[in-house]
Amino acid sequence: RAKADGRGTFCFFREEMAQVVESRRILELDLRKALANEEFELFFQPLVNLKSGRISTCEALLRWNHPVRGTVSPTDIIPIAEDMGLIVDLGRWILRRACMECMKWPEGVSVAVNFSPQQFHQRDVLSEVRYALEVSGLPANRLEIEITESSLLRNTQVTHDVLSQLHSLGVRISLDDFGTGYSSLSYLHNFPLQKVKIDRSFLEGIDTDRPLTLLRGVARLSADLGMSVVVEGIETNEQLELISADGAVTEAQGYLFSPPVPAVRVRQLLNASHGRRPPDDQLRAI
Ligand code: C2E
Ligand code: MG
Ligand code: MG
Ligand code: MG
Repeated sequence: RAKADGRGTFCFFREEMAQVVESRRILELDLRKALANEEFELFFQPLVNLKSGRISTCEALLRWNHPVRGTVSPTDIIPIAEDMGLIVDLGRWILRRACMECMKWPEGVSVAVNFSPQQFHQRDVLSEVRYALEVSGLPANRLEIEITESSLLRNTQVTHDVLSQLHSLGVRISLDDFGTGYSSLSYLHNFPLQKVKIDRSFLEGIDTDRPLTLLRGVARLSADLGMSVVVEGIETNEQLELISADGAVTEAQGYLFSPPVPAVRVRQLLNASHGRRPPDDQLRAI
């Protein structure tokens, strides 16, 4: 009997595996068409400067409005796009779109764009960035590029050179999800980085001593190294108070302020944050 059950389980898994493979194959086919069919959309989530209380930056976050599946999460899209080699085309679209959108915002507000490792390590990444700034007309100092620790694993001269060249353009580099990967503290001073985004996993148990000490330590260290410090995933006022207390954290991002929202909605938030009436054409779009 146990044997029969075992075999049943095995068959069940095999069937399920086949389904996973099949569903992924369909997703790949759909993904190829999605760019041409204009099914992608950028949402934006504000980062709030803790001193001024104003929105300093909005992060572009990819959404896929799939005709059948509805909204597909970027965590499902990006890895597949990387495997397919589609990330370069997709990343180019995201970057240009984000820069163009930022041009509609008040002048003090920047846009942050996530770069996957493959995108960051593509040979002509510098010309991609230069071109996106050129066609959009966005000043380089209003663009932030978010990379993760996995982009820095190749600790080569090339990686250093790309970072310095981007920095010379005037673009800021932000280290995203800090604390989730290998988190070598040496990254913070070995690479020219201007911002650190402490991952929201650091907020777990933050109402107890040890996690709070850890978060504050990382924030203080980054600030002392001359970097701006962001904490991601702020959902409650208590969390906000705890991270604000000692002044090392410069910006916060999270559902407490706003979830990622469509472009039209983020313009409303920015107009409210920067005390401006939206121009007439935007009013109509709203
Ligand atoms: P990320 O860059 O760390 O983005 C933050 C993610 O955390 C977003 O998820 C956001 O919706 C979510 N988040 C923000 N505030 C809160 C909060 O208070 N609580 C909780 N629980 N979550 C919060 P999203 O939009 O699903 O994106 C997931 C990841 O997908 C991003 O993580 C980023 O790594 C990747 N991604 C998104 N858009 C792009 C893109 O255009 N290009 C690339 N290469 N990756 C992207
Ligand atoms: Mg990010
Ligand atoms: Mg992040
Ligand atoms: Mg994250």
